Order: sequence, then C-alpha cells, then structure tokens
Amino acid sequence: MTDLSMLINGQAVSAENGATFERYNPLDGSVATRAPAATPADAVKAVDAAAEAFKSWSQTGPSERRMLLLKAADALEAKTPQFIEAVAAETGASAMWTGFNVHLAAGMLREAASLTTQISGEVIPSDVPGSLAMGVRQPAGVVLGMAPWNAPIILGVRAIATPLACGNTVIFKGSENCPRTHQLIAQAFVDAGFPPGVVNYLTNAPADAGAVVEAMVAHPAVRRVNFTGSTRVGKIIAMTCAKYLKPVVLELGGKAPLVILDDANITDAVNATAFGCFANSGQICMSTERIIVDEAIADAFVAQFAAKASALPVGDPRLPAPVVLGSVIGMSTVEHCNALIDDALALGATLVCGAKANNTLMPATVLDHVTPAMRIYHEETFGPVKCVVRVSGVEAAIACANDNAYGLSAAVFGGDIARAFNVARRIESGICHVNGPTVHDEAQMPFGGVKGSGIGRFGGKAGVAEFTELRWITLQTTPRHYPF
Ligand code: NAD
Repeated sequence: MTDLSMLINGQAVSAENGATFERYNPLDGSVATRAPAATPADAVKAVDAAAEAFKSWSQTGPSERRMLLLKAADALEAKTPQFIEAVAAETGASAMWTGFNVHLAAGMLREAASLTTQISGEVIPSDVPGSLAMGVRQPAGVVLGMAPWNAPIILGVRAIATPLACGNTVIFKGSENCPRTHQLIAQAFVDAGFPPGVVNYLTNAPADAGAVVEAMVAHPAVRRVNFTGSTRVGKIIAMTCAKYLKPVVLELGGKAPLVILDDANITDAVNATAFGCFANSGQICMSTERIIVDEAIADAFVAQFAAKASALPVGDPRLPAPVVLGSVIGMSTVEHCNALIDDALALGATLVCGAKANNTLMPATVLDHVTPAMRIYHEETFGPVKCVVRVSGVEAAIACANDNAYGLSAAVFGGDIARAFNVARRIESGICHVNGPTVHDEAQMPFGGVKGSGIGRFGGKAGVAEFTELRWITLQTTPRHYPF
C-alpha cells in the first residue's frame, strides 16, 4: 500500500483537513493506495498556484517549453516499472497494456514538444487602409484536465501535454480509481524540472468530485476544461461549464462499430476485431463494441473469430505469466456485462465463446445474432463482452453502424478499397479506419467524437486550437479616416 501526496505549487501536500480515501485492488480487495481527499479549498489553492505560475510560464519561449516537455517524456519512460506495478495494483490491467500506455504517452509529450513552434497565427486582409490585421494565438490561462483510469497514462498525459505546450498552466485531477498511477505522471513533470505551479496534481474522494470540480470551474483563472470519461459524467461537467461559461473538451463513451463487408479478407478482419475487442479487456473508449458482418461471410468469420478469442490468456497481471485479459476494474463491470449477456440470450442471441464471470477475471466473450431489441446492441459494455450483428448488403451495414447514440471510433473491412472508403465516409463518427482496427491512437492525430461521444479534439494542431485563445489584433500604420 502506498500513501500519496498531491502536488500544489511544487509542494507535496495533504488535504487541508488531513482527509484521505483508499483505492482497493479489484482482484483481492487489498488496499492499493491511500490518497488525499481534496476539499474545494484545496482545489482553489491549486488554481491560485497555477494562476500565479501562468504569469511567467506563458511568457517562456518555445525552446524552453520544448526542452522541458522532452525531459518529461524521458522521465515518464524511466518510471515504466513503477507504472506497471501501480496500474496492476490499482486497476488490474496487464503489463502489456501499461507498457503501451507509457510508450504512447511519452510520444504525446514529444509531439507536444514539437508543437511549441507550430502555434501559428495569420495576417488577414483588412478593408481599412493601413491596417495590419492579425489572428494571434495566445495561451488561454489555467487549464483543468480530468482523466479516467482505463488508459491511465495516455489519457492523463493527454489532459495536460498540449495545454502546457501552448503556454498554459494546469491542474490535473486524477481518477479515484488510480491516484498512484496518475501521481507518477505528475512526478515525471517534477523530475523534468517544470517550475512550481505549472503542473499541479489533485486527488479527491469519489463523493467529493462534484464539489471539487465545480470549485475549479468557477474560479475566474480557469479558462479551459477538458474531461475524458463517461457520457453521463461528461454531461454533468458540460452543465457546470455552461453555468460559468467555460469552454470544454469532452471525450466520452463509445460503442464503436466494425463493419465487415462481403469481400473482406477474413483473417485480417479477425485479427483486427480481436485486438479491438479485447485489448485491455475491452475497457477502451475506442473498443470494438459492435461487429457488423455481412451475412454472406458471417459463418466463416464467426468461426475463426471465436477460435481466436477463446485462446486469449486471462489472469492476474501481477503474476509472471503474460496475459492479454487482466482483471477488469471492478465487480460493477462484471455485473453489468452479465446482465447484458442474460438479456441477449433471453431474446435469442447465441453464445459463441466465453461465459458470464463471477469475479473480475473475465474471459473473451462473444454473442452472435444480436438484434436491436437487445440491450447490448445499444449500450457500451466497457468489458470483454462483444456482439455480432448480421446484416445483408452495404446499406444495411451503414444503417446499423449509425444506429447508435455514440460516435467515437469505427472501422470498415473490405477488399474493394473504394467501396469500403465510401462506407467509411458515411459512418457518423469522429474517427474511422479502413482495413484497420477501431483501437488506434497517435499523438498527432485529431482525436475525438461526435454525437454522445463528445465535443472537441485532442491531438496535433486541433489540440492547439482547443487550448489557445485566438485573438484579432490590428496595427493602424497610417492615419485613419473617421466619419465624424
Ligand atoms: P466516469 O465518468 O465514471 O468518471 C470519470 C471522472 O468523473 C472521475 O474522475 C470523477 O471524479 C468524475 N466525476 C464523477 N462525478 C462527478 C460530478 N458530479 N462532477 C464532476 N466530476 C465527476 O468514467 P470512468 O468510469 O472513469 O471512465 C470510463 C468511461 O470513459 C467510458 O465510458 C469510456 O468510454 C470513457 N472514455 C472515453 C475516452 C475518449 O477519449 N473518448 C477515453 C477513455 C475512456
């Protein structure tokens, strides 16, 4: 068990009233971490520190910010063994998943470092004689970033890297499910030598989340908010931000469709589907959640997919044997998935592989012949339980893919690339891959969703647009004419 501190103005601190909360290991219930339970007053202190640090950080040149972000990437990678241990203890995820998280998160820091010289403006033709008109991007101010537990290092780093590159200072609010994992990220910024107050880290007890978040959103120095998590909480955050008129980037839930057309290469589709369905036990926002297969090849696909899925190793990630499916985050996921399986089977689906689970080690489970009458057709499982929906023809496949409240990632498999591409163009999602898996993230790409999956984009120049203020500034170079 590890006792944690928060990070405010470069100091390791406890909550002002000494309160703490505990995170338990999902497999054996042992206490994994004890962390400070911040109060709204602690949250305000963190924003005040970030506001003070903004005065000098926003004036630093790109080379200084780039150097520190590159050092943070190295510091993060140097903590890989601690991350593997912390993630397994707090969330039950596999070492493979944590290693991938550190790798991509370090890449995000290096991409953010390179963005420091790409924060460009423009000169805009003006109708006023002698007026030089510019669109100038400036740091916005203090940014509040909130990340979940499921891809903890990637999403934690994503919440703060581009904002920092743009000259903002940040408050990083960790997840109650992985306060130690998220604290290691904050520590990497300390190790890199970021000045005090530029990166602040806050932890809170689950019951206090609403009050702590509102205290920060309400603070006048906070100028941008970003949140990655469920659509349910995303809507609450959006309402809080609306109350104080704060712009917000929301990266929320998903129900990614993977469409397999009748001319798809079945082996390629099976490999991509297995990866997209079962990486991190299906607990990824981009996870393949609906496998939409043309009836003409459905039997062949399902047979090969079931064979691959049932061979994936499941086990305790803290033991030496490598696993693909570690523990899921908690029994609530098990109970939710079991209910979806019961509902689908009662309404005529067939169980192709896997089973209901009675602990957090859940096997890869696939249901075939799923229809819109079943809950699993619509609801995010966020676990390793997946559904196959059989359709006939391209139009039915597109209609099925769009028959959902979410719209984050999607994929289309087909041999006729032009036809598959035209299907991809018609899917309502922020992201779509032709002949690739739904799970795919790269630091420089515009990442985000439509419909219930959120608002705004992280990644590359799209992220710069979210975390800078675009100002119109003019310079009158000749005497100006006035009507009176
Ligand atoms: P969650 O929404 O349950 O919790 C996330 C955070 O919400 C917590 O840190 C908590 O402190 C905060 N919170 C809870 N109640 C609050 C309130 N009333 N006011 C303010 N904050 C509050 O999400 P989770 O279970 O941690 O994450 C899983 C979800 O995240 C899934 O739906 C998944 O699809 C989604 N997700 C999306 C992306 C993406 O990029 N789109 C990435 C990963 C995960």
